[in-house]
Amino acid sequence: MLRSVILAASRSSQVERLVATAPYTRDVVRRFVAGAATDDALRATRGLVDDGLAVTLDHLGEDTVTPEQAVATRDEYLTLLKMLAAAGLTPAAEVSVKLSALGQMFDEQLAYDNARAICAAADAAGTTVTLDMEDHTTTDSTLEVLSRLRKDFPSTGAVLQSYLRRTESDCRELASAGSRVRLCKGAYKEPESVAYQSAREVDRSYVRCMNILMSGDGYPMLATHDPRMIAIGEDRARWFDRGPERFEFQMLYGIRPEEQARLAGEGYTVRTYVPYGDEWYGYLMRRLAERPANLVFFGRALLSKK
Ligand SMILES: Cc1cc2nc3c(=O)[nH]c(=O)nc-3n(C[C@H](O)[C@H](O)[C@H](O)COP(=O)(O)OP(=O)(O)OC[C@H]3O[C@@H](n4cnc5c(N)ncnc54)[C@H](O)[C@@H]3O)c2cc1C
Repeated sequence: MLRSVILAASRSSQVERLVATAPYTRDVVRRFVAGAATDDALRATRGLVDDGLAVTLDHLGEDTVTPEQAVATRDEYLTLLKMLAAAGLTPAAEVSVKLSALGQMFDEQLAYDNARAICAAADAAGTTVTLDMEDHTTTDSTLEVLSRLRKDFPSTGAVLQSYLRRTESDCRELASAGSRVRLCKGAYKEPESVAYQSAREVDRSYVRCMNILMSGDGYPMLATHDPRMIAIGEDRARWFDRGPERFEFQMLYGIRPEEQARLAGEGYTVRTYVPYGDEWYGYLMRRLAERPANLVFFGRALLSKK
């Protein structure tokens, strides 16, 4: 219920104005977002890489409505990739891209062209791209763009969400040699017709999907902070004899950093998803919807008169 309210608020420009102008919002944002500028993203990446973690960088922004915005997003990624390469941070750092930020909502071909330019730049920089997955109305389009991109850039990563009923079948399709697939639970508000609604069903689906990916021929990327899913992931890695070069764990910047360090210390590949940029609102609201404790933290900061 609370999750639905917060996810509905994530689409409200009125709530966005309220949150953005509240006195201590910035402190809360800083916990989950690396900063506004490309330099901030680079600084955070350097720190994480020095600590033995891999990184995927996300320039915040989604639901772009004009071609100019879409091209500006593409250009930001091109600049970022050049800077990462110049700083010697590739291949430890790759990029995550939302097709809706590249024009998918109004022109799928434009989104493809922009994504292709980013994949080419990533390839030249010695790294790769993962296409984030958004709400279920975009799943078919995103997987179609992915398959076109993979013709020239086979290491382009996919994201599948275990809350969707279709995902087990998508995992089977994508568990092929060389196929990088990030498995997450899913962060959007979805109807019962397409998505499991209870945490138990979503978790069980996550485990079924993990089994398919970990026993398959691709490169699974297990994106979760859930201690039970992580423990099962460790177990499957032993069972299917997958070393650190054959799968990875992924977590979000600012969430369970000690667990990220622990897993990296045990020799696993761990990648931190680092968002940066001004357009943090939708991202932050999805993080709040995931965890009531984050909401308390946020509420305290908003009410604080310090
Ligand atoms: C790298 C990465 C990329 C992602 N990309 C996408 C994407 O492209 N599309 C998409 O829809 N979603 C994406 N997500 C978000 C994902 O779908 C989930 O919404 C999010 O990860 C929360 O699910 P969870 O598996 O962590 O478990 P949850 O069910 O949220 O949490 C389960 C348990 O994990 C632990 N936990 C969770 N958060 C915390 C915390 N802050 N502190 C301490 N313990 C905590 C708690 O024990 C909690 O009970 C991504 C997530 C990650 C990590």
